[in-house]
Amino acid sequence: MDDDKFYVPNRLEIKPGAFYFVAKCPITKKILAIERDPDRGSNPYSHADTLVSCHHCQGRHRFETSDIIPCQASEGDDW
Ligand SMILES: [Zn+2]
Repeated sequence: MDDDKFYVPNRLEIKPGAFYFVAKCPITKKILAIERDPDRGSNPYSHADTLVSCHHCQGRHRFETSDIIPCQASEGDDW
């Protein structure tokens, strides 16, 4: 368990079929990818506090662990 703040500055490349930890942008309500999930949904997100630069609203958001869920990408997803 890593309780440090985790900062995600760059937009991830979304590959269809791959799993990502995602959260919802509070401004646009769009899904935002935080990082790749190598465990394909079998383990919860491990950082307690995450700061993300958001490509949807160009803002910056802080998410807690409970805001972040694993999700599998489909063709055309703009996370
Ligand atoms: Zn946003």
